[in-house]
Amino acid sequence: MYKAFLVKYAEIGLKGKNRFIFENALRDNIRRRLNRLQSGFFVSKEQGRILVECNEEYDFDEVVNTLTKVFGVSGISPVVAIEDTSWENIEEKVGDYVEAAYTDKAFTFKVEAKRADKTYPVKSPDMCSRLGAYLLKRFPEMKVDVHKPQVYITVEIRNQGYVSSITIPGPGGMPVGTSGKAMLLLSGGIDSPVAGWMVSKRGVMMEATYFHAPPYTSERAKQKVIDLAKIMAEYTGTIKLNVVNFTDIQMYIYETCPHNELTIIMRRYMMRIAQHFAKESECMALVTGESIGQVASQTMQSLAATDAVCDMPVFRPLIAFDKQDIVTIAEKIKTYETSILPFEDCCTIFVAKHPVTKPEISVIEKSEELLRERIDDLVKTALDTVEVITCRAE
Ligand code: ATP
Ligand code: MG
Repeated sequence: MYKAFLVKYAEIGLKGKNRFIFENALRDNIRRRLNRLQSGFFVSKEQGRILVECNEEYDFDEVVNTLTKVFGVSGISPVVAIEDTSWENIEEKVGDYVEAAYTDKAFTFKVEAKRADKTYPVKSPDMCSRLGAYLLKRFPEMKVDVHKPQVYITVEIRNQGYVSSITIPGPGGMPVGTSGKAMLLLSGGIDSPVAGWMVSKRGVMMEATYFHAPPYTSERAKQKVIDLAKIMAEYTGTIKLNVVNFTDIQMYIYETCPHNELTIIMRRYMMRIAQHFAKESECMALVTGESIGQVASQTMQSLAATDAVCDMPVFRPLIAFDKQDIVTIAEKIKTYETSILPFEDCCTIFVAKHPVTKPEISVIEKSEELLRERIDDLVKTALDTVEVITCRAE
């Protein structure tokens, strides 16, 4: 029934002179995602909207599902095309549309009609009133409400006629790629995929780093992280995932430093290494899934201690979120089921019974000095042996 989709966007960023950058990015992102489904989609900019036309058979649900994951989209309206634009036919086909789209017609409505073609014999305001009158006559249960209608029936006449009335909400946000790139520290947990999703929603491209500690963490734990990155990629676009072998660094810290400081020192090395890759691929910030007070390594003092080793901004979008609020987003974006699979996390292997909750940076730095002898070599090996995995939406 639907030949096309009108894609609406709300906040498109910086606006003004830069507006076209955002519109082009949104158009290109939509085009890229749809073309991965199949051929035959034609995506163009059209007076403050993006028009998606489909010249071949397509799966409606699949297209809508894809469009609801493109950041920058605020709403998706499926559109029926009317080839013969003679006025009688427009009236009849708009009526047929309402007939098919609504089984229950006891609703209030307003017609918003426009002719893009100024030579069309019926002027826009007349189109609205005449279509309104036609619909009232054909469907007596319908009522006009020009102020707060339940349904807007939108009719546009260009080279063809177009009618639509349903808007499926999009994810909002800004087109990925319009705000630069960031490096996500992606674990297999619930929080970090949500954090990455949130930052990406603001138009930021994502890369990710995962710290793997074989044999303490299994191949399945690594696969889980890859699976999470693929789910995220449905929104963020392809994610380049750096898998770092962290075992030797972790063991060395474990053998050398006070056990109550293990987690915080480990986290500082994670940040240092992630930052190295971030700089290498021109990321402008690090992103983590931390939230104040969630665990010992996420007290204000601990966060300050991890920040101290970074010279680029660290974004923590979940900083003030309660766990349940994070879970709600994880469920919505479909990472939750994968995140709760019970594979060990590299941090849980080496956790102390009583980790420091208020680390003092000077004390931590002293402990790190104990690592002097071998740490640089171990970090270098970790950097040199990184495995890069390209994670695409499936
Ligand atoms: P998550 O649910 O994201 O794993 P968490 O509640 O388990 O978070 P921590 O284990 O303290 O919290 O980790 C805090 C943050 O550090 C994570 O959100 C993630 O950004 C990063 N992180 C932790 N472990 C790893 C890892 N193995 N690889 C990459 N990043 C990690
Ligand atoms: Mg974790």
